[in-house]
Amino acid sequence: MSNQPPESKQTAQRLNIRAAKAIAESVKSTLGPAGMDKMLVNAMGDFAATNDGATILQDMDIAHPGAKMIVEAANTQESICYDGTTSTVILAGALLGNSEGLFDKGLHPNVICKGYRQAARWAVDHINTLSYDASEHLNNVARTSITGKSVEQHMENAPELCVEAVKLAGGDFDRIRVLTQLGGGADDSHCFSGVVLHKEFMLPAMPLKPNGKALLINTGLSDTKMDDNVQLNLGSAAEYQNFKQFSSRDTWVEKADQIIAKLPDGGVVFVRDHMNEVVAATLAKNNISVVQRMQESDVAALSTLLGIPPAHTTEDLMDAADCDVECKTIGDMKYVVVKGEGEVTTLVLRGATKQTLDEIERGFDDALGVVCVAYKTGQVVPGGGSAYLNAALHLSARAAEVGGRAQMAIDAFADALEQIAGTIAENAGFSLLDTILGLRTEHLAGNTTFGPDIENGGTTCMVEANVWEPLDLVRQAVLSASEVSISILRIDDIISRRSDNQGPQ
Ligand code: ADP
Ligand code: MG
Repeated sequence: MSNQPPESKQTAQRLNIRAAKAIAESVKSTLGPAGMDKMLVNAMGDFAATNDGATILQDMDIAHPGAKMIVEAANTQESICYDGTTSTVILAGALLGNSEGLFDKGLHPNVICKGYRQAARWAVDHINTLSYDASEHLNNVARTSITGKSVEQHMENAPELCVEAVKLAGGDFDRIRVLTQLGGGADDSHCFSGVVLHKEFMLPAMPLKPNGKALLINTGLSDTKMDDNVQLNLGSAAEYQNFKQFSSRDTWVEKADQIIAKLPDGGVVFVRDHMNEVVAATLAKNNISVVQRMQESDVAALSTLLGIPPAHTTEDLMDAADCDVECKTIGDMKYVVVKGEGEVTTLVLRGATKQTLDEIERGFDDALGVVCVAYKTGQVVPGGGSAYLNAALHLSARAAEVGGRAQMAIDAFADALEQIAGTIAENAGFSLLDTILGLRTEHLAGNTTFGPDIENGGTTCMVEANVWEPLDLVRQAVLSASEVSISILRIDDIISRRSDNQGPQ
């Protein structure tokens, strides 16, 4: 390919651009609260309906390298800000689409890249000046993130629940555990401080004292585990009975004693696997309750909460950790709720069908993420694409500063930024162009918080409509989109690579 005339290089560039634009086109109709859903179907015929940009991109069968770069940019956006993926992809698509027009006018890719880089810097600096204090708007950040998602219809109090969970976890996304339970209604969902186990105690619960003690064992205490790899030659059934009764019983009593020694005043033992009834009964007599057969993730969460590593056997038990353990029944479910030193929050989500529960979980995932970002950074901006649009006007005003051909690239960047607000309106059934023109007029008149009115068409104040987003989300979307566009524009040839038997080829 490399010995071909320059036109073919331009073709490679155009192919990349076309592939990236195709990706943007495919998610475009999902943007905003009035966005449509996409049905994802795999070769087995399994399906899911969603309008979550990140989910669609993850599940799309994408082969073209240019398109893959766009998906990477969306993944970066998702991993840093938890939301805003569709906006990022649409922005990147618009930036690349506009660059085609600039190529046609004879601009060199390097000039376009230079202009885009400058424009991204100015846009980000300007967006920083549009920020408000997040503390009063956390509920609205959650609401904005879930509007248009099915969570909104299933659950009235979703934004409040989301903010409660984030505050309890101190704004740390990794400290929020989401437990999904099929059945019940979405309104049976609940937020707990601590780790929630969908479990009951093995024997009827002993009276649990507040300020109790707990142990964590990362294995089971039962025959099948303990007698592995042991060979015995026994002459008769009676001999076997004897062995069972004495040797193994002694071992169990010993194990129980080791646990009792660490919990002299009673408490709770959490065991990863099955626990032998003999041990459980002995422990129960000593006021020690048992939770058995736990998920690995639950053991890990308890370990974080209690601040102790899980023991591998009863011999290497650490000192017991302080904790409060309670049994709770909510709706038709029984839970064991464990509170400890660490800040861990568990959100129990309920849904009547698997599909609704999956959508609720995905909606919450985004909303919890953006509320964490807003809570931690303390800064939000009005949504609806209003911040991008305001930045676009700022760029247009400054474009002349750079002079020469690069100013055309800055204007092209500004045009791309306006597409977010326009597309939100278009997806709600209104004119993209009229909305952008209307918004330009408002913003130039000083109404910088105006965005698209998705109910009646035209424009409206996003502050009054309670539409808010974390500042970081908008800023990152501009950065991710401009970076990926510049990377794609810098590629002028596609060359096949030796596969070396590694990776897909
Ligand atoms: P993304 O994947 O980019 O988050 P979404 O489909 O979630 O895409 O749409 C998010 C956009 O919709 C944001 O710009 C947000 O501000 C906007 N939005 C949400 N609710 C409203 C509303 N009521 N009016 C106008 N815009 C809204
Ligand atoms: Mg979103």
